Amino acid sequence: MRTRVVVVGAGIGGLTAAVALREAGCDVRIFERGSEVRGLAGSGLTIWTNALAALAGLGLADAVASHGTPLARQEIRVPGSAVLGVVEVGRIGGELGRPGIGIRRQDLLATLLAAAEGIPLTYASPVLSVRQSAGTATVEFADGSTTGADIVVGADGISSAVRRAVFDDGPAVGLGHMFWRGISDSDHGYPAATSLMFLSLPGARCVSWPVGAGRVCWSVSRCGPAVTSTVDDHDKVKAMLLGYLRGFPEPVHNVIESTPAERILRTDLFWRPDDEWRRGRVALLGDAAHAMPTVYGQGACQAIEDAVVLAASVAGAPDPFAALSAYAEARRPRVRAIRRRVMGLSHYQGWELPVLNGVRDQVLRALPAAASEATWRMMLGFPGTVKEPSRVA
Ligand SMILES: Cc1cc2nc3c(=O)[nH]c(=O)nc-3n(C[C@H](O)[C@H](O)[C@H](O)COP(=O)(O)OP(=O)(O)OC[C@H]3O[C@@H](n4cnc5c(N)ncnc54)[C@H](O)[C@@H]3O)c2cc1C
Repeated sequence: MRTRVVVVGAGIGGLTAAVALREAGCDVRIFERGSEVRGLAGSGLTIWTNALAALAGLGLADAVASHGTPLARQEIRVPGSAVLGVVEVGRIGGELGRPGIGIRRQDLLATLLAAAEGIPLTYASPVLSVRQSAGTATVEFADGSTTGADIVVGADGISSAVRRAVFDDGPAVGLGHMFWRGISDSDHGYPAATSLMFLSLPGARCVSWPVGAGRVCWSVSRCGPAVTSTVDDHDKVKAMLLGYLRGFPEPVHNVIESTPAERILRTDLFWRPDDEWRRGRVALLGDAAHAMPTVYGQGACQAIEDAVVLAASVAGAPDPFAALSAYAEARRPRVRAIRRRVMGLSHYQGWELPVLNGVRDQVLRALPAAASEATWRMMLGFPGTVKEPSRVA
């Protein structure tokens, strides 16, 4: 009999998992809280070599890449245009498979949704809880209805109801970074194939990268006085962000200036320390398992890796317990290693004091290119392997 899997959440991780699990021979259903699958208009992503390698195993890498822009360089700069560091992400990506891309979230989701065609997807079905008994898992919905499964995959994001029901280990931790983002409709002379990170004195930073069709995605964040988080007038927010970026080069200024103020999104950032991902017949993936800050653009990439490794584990395992155990064993060391680097970079990027920023800039300048390249090689290489499943109930 085919393994019956319920995937909770039709985001990047959930849709990829559903497709991969179907390929692995499972009988898959998806339940999504929202009334549709959609990426907000101001939301863009970097989907790096490792995630494209995972998607290639599902035959989806070309379709995803066709909506984005390959990225050749990442530069870290400070105002006045001094370059603190350059990483040739395109070359590294090419050596490991193919260069990573910038892409709009809505384009990635639409591609995954098309790939999931034929998999039953029920919208407006918020999951409240999951119960487990000897032979089955029971998913409970907000309207009181239930459904049974051999395996439940919690791909329901940062405030995961599945995590709450099964692990009950508290909410994700706020980073205290204020974060705004948007996408311009034209590039205004923005440098081709380049991801730019600008660090400025008041603790503000700006990251920007092309996301296909001449558009440029940007984000501005800072660990600032709480008052700025209460600004809710769109035009005032935009003026405030442009104020943070004085001294930044014109193309970056211009892509923010040209983004309609009402399309600028405000987001709070969270992360989870190391914790559980799997209990009995329930496994978590993506942000539900290991939300992390965005500094290396790896959150969605890790959700995609999770999905593919989970399906490979299920395909080869004698029973659900062994499959989910193998998945967690295979994934946790890699996610831990990436999260360690992400948290390190995230921490010192948010420094507000000029003296600390001076130290930070000196450290970044002195960092040997080989060390930075080694970090990127580690992140961009998708191991894609699954250990032999072991029986852990
Ligand atoms: C500003 C910002 C920039 C980022 N940039 C990048 C980047 O460049 N590259 C990158 O790789 N990552 C990036 N990330 C991280 C990335 O967005 C996340 O890691 C990724 O979206 C996680 O995918 P997911 O499928 O786990 O969760 P989500 O995308 O959050 O999807 C969860 C889904 O579950 C649904 N859901 C929630 N609760 C329920 C419920 N109770 N019942 C049913 N359905 C439910 C939701 O509606 C949603 O559809 C960024 C994040 C932010 C905030």
